[in-house]
Amino acid sequence: MTAETIDGKAFAAGVRAKVAHHVETLRDTHGITPGLAVVLVGEDPASEVYVANKHRQTVEVGMASFSHKLPAKTTEADLFALIDQLNADPSVHGILCQFPVPEHLNERAVVARIDPAKDVDGLSVVNAGLLASGERGLVSCTPLGCLMLLRDRLGDLSGLEAVVIGRSNLFGKPMGQLLLRENATVTMAHSRTRDLAQVCRRADILVAAVGRAEMVKADWVKPGATVIDVGITRQPHPDDPDKTRLLGDVDFAAVAEVAGAITPVPGGVGPMTIACLLANTVTACCRAHGLPEPEGLAV
Ligand code: NAP
Repeated sequence: MTAETIDGKAFAAGVRAKVAHHVETLRDTHGITPGLAVVLVGEDPASEVYVANKHRQTVEVGMASFSHKLPAKTTEADLFALIDQLNADPSVHGILCQFPVPEHLNERAVVARIDPAKDVDGLSVVNAGLLASGERGLVSCTPLGCLMLLRDRLGDLSGLEAVVIGRSNLFGKPMGQLLLRENATVTMAHSRTRDLAQVCRRADILVAAVGRAEMVKADWVKPGATVIDVGITRQPHPDDPDKTRLLGDVDFAAVAEVAGAITPVPGGVGPMTIACLLANTVTACCRAHGLPEPEGLAV
């Protein structure tokens, strides 16, 4: 069997097109432009690239993009003053602080300072709690993107066996909660899980979010399963030591012979994250104005 490759890049383009359409409607019908503010503290080169991508894609869908670059030595008080200002600004519907922040700043405290209604990363305790209690909040972008891919491929997830490897607050826990909300039977696996391969073999849906290159082998996968590879590891390229390549948590070539469908790395889950950030910003904007939410962009 050769698995279908799930094209996250194309799917993300479709999400962005839906967002752009909704942004246009909000502007033409209500005179509202959704706005996303991104805060970057320090000069981490990878973060600068991520922030530039977010800015470009925000502008491309017709939203307002507010970029705030602060020096690495910014105090917590100054960062919080900016967040408070963005919380109070009616033209800002989503706020994101790019992590990692310099060591003297506490990430949890930074997230907690953001108004939960503008926490488009879905990382706050309030939004995590709303998700866990089955209420409406803003959902962490990467798990939301994975759920969209799964629904598109499988339709109703009810009763399916889902195994999520990884239990981080950023990904694993919200992914597990989302699958539970879809009535899947969810197993959360982690570094202390015994006989991980056997646990994974019962999965109709296998989601790997560990950060260990190609750890999921073909004999861990039930024939026909849908495999979502969230992991990203950068390694030297075997053919050219001057280059690097990205690897997922799944041994793609071997697993593709067993699975029914699989996301590649790159080009699978990765592009969904920013697309869902934009989707969350439109959702937050609609909620702030008491308007109907766009179909299919929120849970
Ligand atoms: P994390 O906070 O480091 O969590 C990793 C999880 O993997 C932990 O729960 C850990 O278990 C578990 N784990 C570690 N070794 C294991 C093993 N040998 N067997 C089973 N489980 C093991 O990482 P994260 O933030 O969730 O990210 C995970 C991966 O996804 C990374 O590669 C990251 O780059 C990628 N990611 C990609 C995107 C994207 O595409 N946009 C977004 C988010 C994350 P314990 O809890 O027991 O330590």
